[in-house]
Amino acid sequence: MTHIGKCFCGAVSLEVKGEAEGMGYCHCRSCRSWSGGPVNAFTLWKPENVRIMAGAEHVGMFQKTPLSQRQYCTKCGGHLMTVHPTLGLVDVFAATIPDVAFKPGVHVNYSETVLPMRDGLPKLKDFPAELGGSGEAVPE
Ligand SMILES: [Zn+2]
Ligand SMILES: [Zn+2]
Repeated sequence: MTHIGKCFCGAVSLEVKGEAEGMGYCHCRSCRSWSGGPVNAFTLWKPENVRIMAGAEHVGMFQKTPLSQRQYCTKCGGHLMTVHPTLGLVDVFAATIPDVAFKPGVHVNYSETVLPMRDGLPKLKDFPAELGGSGEAVPE
């Protein structure tokens, strides 16, 4: 199954295929600062399952740390995805691919939250152990 997503102005379109590797919310300060929102709703994909369909020449990238290559449309400034090269995963923001059913399974970096979300899902202090974090849970 494939789903098409677009940037804010539509100049860049992308396709994701298959199943996401994971979905959830990131509460870290970096996601807040870059997204302009209180949390980032993420969907993680293997890089080979994400493809730019049109407007590749308008895809800009900003990299502050080795962990995250943040990609956006240079025409409208709309955010597309963050490539995590060291994790071998791409976070296509849930808002970029509205046709994909968003089924969050976890909250990460919850120790930095400014918007507590009492939804019964696991709340991790930082990242899951398999992604190099402590895997430690914190209370809602
Ligand atoms: Zn755009
Ligand atoms: Zn984050």
